[in-house]
Amino acid sequence: MTGGVAGAAANRYLAAMSEADPIAVPPHGRRLPKPDWIRVKAPTSAGYAETRKLMRRLNLATVCEEAACPNIGECWTRKHATVMILGDTCTRACAFCNVRTGMPRAVDPLEPEHVAVAAAELGLSHIVVTSVDRDDLPDGGAMQFVRVIEALRRTAPATTIEILTPDFRNKSQAAVERIVAARPDVYNHNLETVPRLYPTIRPGARYYASLRLLESVKRHDPTIFTKSGLMVGLGEQRLEVHQVMDDMRSADVDFLTMGQYLQPTPRHARVEDFVTPQAFKAYAAIARAKGFLLVAASPLTRSSYHAGDDFARLKAAREAGMAQR
Ligand code: SF4
Repeated sequence: MTGGVAGAAANRYLAAMSEADPIAVPPHGRRLPKPDWIRVKAPTSAGYAETRKLMRRLNLATVCEEAACPNIGECWTRKHATVMILGDTCTRACAFCNVRTGMPRAVDPLEPEHVAVAAAELGLSHIVVTSVDRDDLPDGGAMQFVRVIEALRRTAPATTIEILTPDFRNKSQAAVERIVAARPDVYNHNLETVPRLYPTIRPGARYYASLRLLESVKRHDPTIFTKSGLMVGLGEQRLEVHQVMDDMRSADVDFLTMGQYLQPTPRHARVEDFVTPQAFKAYAAIARAKGFLLVAASPLTRSSYHAGDDFARLKAAREAGMAQR
């Protein structure tokens, strides 16, 4: 029997582990039909059309479109879009990602101002800014993140800022130092999948390098919330996912997001299983027991889904934790 706070957490963990966790066993050799809980409506609202028009006018790419996100109808109707800076062409070719691969164009010097204007015109209380990988740039694109944060602070000072960065391969320490000094409110970097699947799913990245990046954000500035996400349904095992949660907690990650991987085209990695909503609930219970400040886990959860509401929850959870000390 364990005692104290750690003991209570361990008991919650064991209780969550004992819940039913019905992850579908993948039938091999065929594409799985989408279950009912994955289906979403086609985007048709006036808000969706307005958001799209604004993005085109300001020449901004969005991950919502490039990643063929299933939530685009809901998010854009609410004028929530995740802007993708540093162009629309990525220097890597991850097996899960729909963003075009190739030699990117030169960095657009007007992009930071355009992002800021978009935030102001959409009236965003919270913005998520992400980017393609830019292994071709000496700083991996870190300074463009800094310029975007500075432009947002000038033009939309009430908007809180969440950045979702690449791993800045081989230059992450300098990149993190620069970006953290610009003080985004949330720093997100997704681990995406379990380490065993990196060679096939995320071949250009290294699991422990990504983990170190998250850890170094917190070490440089413990006041910045850190966040990371996992896709499930790629063939990972439940205990491997639990290990990733432990690794994230060792890096002091505050917020975990988990969602179902969806195959964007037949050329991309196959869906190995559709994780049931009940299994997501079980994962969420385990993650909470492991000590994350906030957990969002459901089939349609994406790193930026409901990010503004979640930021308010994150702040409240930290304040509640501080009040208990
Ligand atoms: S979940 Fe994120 S990427 Fe998907 S539509 Fe919403 S804001 Fe865009």
